[in-house]
Amino acid sequence: MELRLQLTLAILKPHLVSNPFAVKEIRQLLLKNQFNVIKWKKHRISMEEASKFYEEHKKKFFYNRLVTFVTSGPSEMYILAKINAINDWRRLMGPTKVFKAQFEAPNTIRGTFGLSDTRNATHGSDSDESAKREISILFPDFNYDLWFKMEEESFRMEKVDFIENEFVHKKRLLIN
Ligand code: ADP
Ligand code: MG
Repeated sequence: MELRLQLTLAILKPHLVSNPFAVKEIRQLLLKNQFNVIKWKKHRISMEEASKFYEEHKKKFFYNRLVTFVTSGPSEMYILAKINAINDWRRLMGPTKVFKAQFEAPNTIRGTFGLSDTRNATHGSDSDESAKREISILFPDFNYDLWFKMEEESFRMEKVDFIENEFVHKKRLLIN
């Protein structure tokens, strides 16, 4: 197991964000599972962002409905940090296909809140490389490499505070 923290990008897709109950549930799930919330925003993904983000799926039959859906209203996107963040978040999400999720993993996010294979509630990066690429598309001001250089250790050592009203964890500032 890797000892360094890992960053991942989680997205709550539009149909989920329109359900405040679901958002609340998922936020509680993040905290309960010890994810650090590095940065988040509510943002309607533009067609330009969506086409970059889902580039690998351009040739797939579901591409058009996918980009139409994710640009249809605001999403919430979160940069999360944890040891094994990528797999842990994907495990909480459950299988990509909602009908499979409902059948095989009903307690996962997709099993609970997914509506169809397209409207499957959430996104999670599938590798470090994807996380870095996806974060750069949706958080162009966030410097992935600099975060590891300047912040990772503090988060790993739990020298952080949770700012409840901002729903974010911040490096503790030590005043001597
Ligand atoms: P994941 O989101 O689990 O990483 P993929 O990267 O394979 O899954 O697919 C990206 C997104 O495309 C999925 O989250 C889902 O919204 C959509 N999608 C994937 N497969 C299908 C499908 N067979 N039919 C409709 N939409 C799909
Ligand atoms: Mg994927």
